[in-house]
Amino acid sequence: MRSKTGNSFTKRTPIRKDMNLTHRSIRSACHFVKINCLRNLSITKAIMASSRLTNSKRIEGLDKNVWVAFTSVAADPSIVNLGQGYPDIPPPAYVKEGLANAAVVDQLNQYTRGFGHPALVKALSQVYGKVYGRHIDPFKEILVTVGGYGSLFCTMQGLVEVGDEVIIIEPFFDCYVPMVQMAGAKPILIPLRLKSNKKSNIISSSDWVLDPAELASKFTSKTKAIIINTPNNPLGKIFSRDELQMIADLCIKHDTLCISDEVYEWLIYKGHQHIKIATLPGMWDRTITISSAGKTFSVTGWKLGWSIGPEHLIKHLQTVMQNTLYTCPTPLQEAVAQGLLRDYELMGQPDCYFTSLAVELEGKRDRMAAILQDVGMSPIIPEGGYFMCVDVTSLNQDLSHLGDDEPYDYKFIKWMIKEKKLAAIPVTAFCGDSSRKQFEKYIRLCFIKKDSTLDAAEAILKNWNN
Ligand code: PMP
Ligand code: GLN
Repeated sequence: MRSKTGNSFTKRTPIRKDMNLTHRSIRSACHFVKINCLRNLSITKAIMASSRLTNSKRIEGLDKNVWVAFTSVAADPSIVNLGQGYPDIPPPAYVKEGLANAAVVDQLNQYTRGFGHPALVKALSQVYGKVYGRHIDPFKEILVTVGGYGSLFCTMQGLVEVGDEVIIIEPFFDCYVPMVQMAGAKPILIPLRLKSNKKSNIISSSDWVLDPAELASKFTSKTKAIIINTPNNPLGKIFSRDELQMIADLCIKHDTLCISDEVYEWLIYKGHQHIKIATLPGMWDRTITISSAGKTFSVTGWKLGWSIGPEHLIKHLQTVMQNTLYTCPTPLQEAVAQGLLRDYELMGQPDCYFTSLAVELEGKRDRMAAILQDVGMSPIIPEGGYFMCVDVTSLNQDLSHLGDDEPYDYKFIKWMIKEKKLAAIPVTAFCGDSSRKQFEKYIRLCFIKKDSTLDAAEAILKNWNN
């Protein structure tokens, strides 16, 4: 019953100890739940109205998130999930065994060094020493974080200042914009554009390019950093040496930091080469390079990542780490360290997981592209990574009955999940409002999947019109 004041309830319905599930007792239980829900709701509303108990300005408008929205709708096992990027192929046995072995060592179940477990930073220094062709100090030039996300967060918080501008290339991994905003800085977006002189009708991720003059125009006296992502999520573009040199020249000219997200660094397909911008002349001193165990060993659930860079930059990321999360799980770090050491010995050989996974994925990429082309869709063939974007224009799916509140790709995927039982990710989640028109007819499919998952996707696509 409502009290006279109108927004709270005077009495709670008591719970009867001897309650058995008779019709009456169920009714009374429902009544109890309803009354208490309404009561809590009115309390919550009253609290929300109070000016002090609101969100911080830092997170204003950042509540919508594509992963939150789409991972729950794709959770139904009857849906073929090519949405969120994670493998359903098994991780390497020696990596899983490494974790089991670590868990039985008592000391490895306790805290380890905050900036990175010694065994892991030493293994990273060995692997990347070879890749960069320079000595990397395991204790001063590496920070281990909670996934690539953790490295992005420590970088933004440690190096980006309120009022700064940070250049971000569209389409971008979606968290870059909110991370820049949470640091109090302004994201400055610039899109990759499809080359207009494209002759063949097979489109590659390399056909998406920056306009050098447009990029140069984005650098101002406020520019603190540029974020690059190579291979790129979602397009799979690998930035060429010339493109990286053009970016590096601008960074040096404007004394700008470069944040290079290279979590897909090992997933490079035939005919392409991954180049680290930090290895270009003058760039080591101004670059933070980010990678992830989740991608390196197909263990996205382990959430371990790392930042590599010069001591004068890494030390600021370390300050953020020591005052936020302090350290990462020890057994996971030990297992990744052992895995890296195993693959370090095999580098350059076909059995090295860094190479063998890319070979396995290249077959899946080609199969995915063929399936899409067979049904008349136009995929963008990725040079790296494990995503493929595809233009769905040719399907002519009329979705006007779903309203105008959302971009076409969001509506298309919600419709596809419901009607076709196939999940993907909308590409406009990776761009700002002004580039929406350019990307809203694309969806992103993840192809690091078992053959049986790809078979199921193929069956859906082949029967599209039935
Ligand atoms: N960067 C990119 C480009 C990504 O796709 C992801 C998603 N895995 C991350 C960073 C974050 O990686 P992690 O899962 O290791 O936090
Ligand atoms: N990086 C993964 C992707 O792009 C997943 C990110 C996430 O779930 N937050 O699909």
